[in-house]
Amino acid sequence: MLNIILFGPPGAGKGTQSAYLVEHYGLVHLSTGDIFRANIKGGTELGQLAQSYMNQGQLVPDDVTIRMLESEVAKHQEAKGFIFDGFPRTTAQAEALDVFLNGRETPVSCMLALDVAEEELKTRLLARAETSGRPDDANPAVIQKRIDVYNAETAPVASHYAAQGKFTGVDGIGTIEEITERLQAAIPHH
Ligand code: ADP
Repeated sequence: MLNIILFGPPGAGKGTQSAYLVEHYGLVHLSTGDIFRANIKGGTELGQLAQSYMNQGQLVPDDVTIRMLESEVAKHQEAKGFIFDGFPRTTAQAEALDVFLNGRETPVSCMLALDVAEEELKTRLLARAETSGRPDDANPAVIQKRIDVYNAETAPVASHYAAQGKFTGVDGIGTIEEITERLQAAIPHH
């Protein structure tokens, strides 16, 4: 199994790069943001709960997010591996993911972190708002909040995987192809 955590701040390019990795390695892509948005669209209870947090740039509570992620993993018994995009976003989520995956004897293989400077992130997110239809991309105050939450709560997750020797930082500035090549070079052989 190849279990990759694609890490980085909002707007770093995780979704874009996931598409290639899914195709090249035959992995299942699990984006917690996409799953929450599908639930909002479908009018589920989970969607209603998630929406209020997402629109303010805050994290959906850990217990709900962890339960959802675990049930998504369990749906794909035949998977060759997963790309986790947007998860884990807190140290508590990382600890829960480790317990869950280690219990299945399919541990996290690596964390690849896309590195992009804050000003560039803001520019990208505002540009994405033109086509994404995402209310959290269209509002500069919400973008700032997401970046602040990332720095305070999510960035420490890098140390969690660095301590396990699983962390690689990748320069997230360049063409899509250049960044894909950097990611590929950082993926352990399996
Ligand atoms: P981006 O990386 O551009 O911020 P995402 O689609 O990954 O976009 O996330 C959008 C929003 O969904 C987040 O701001 C947050 O409210 C919620 N969300 C996504 N993943 C998680 C998570 N692992 N834990 C808590 N909230 C999450």
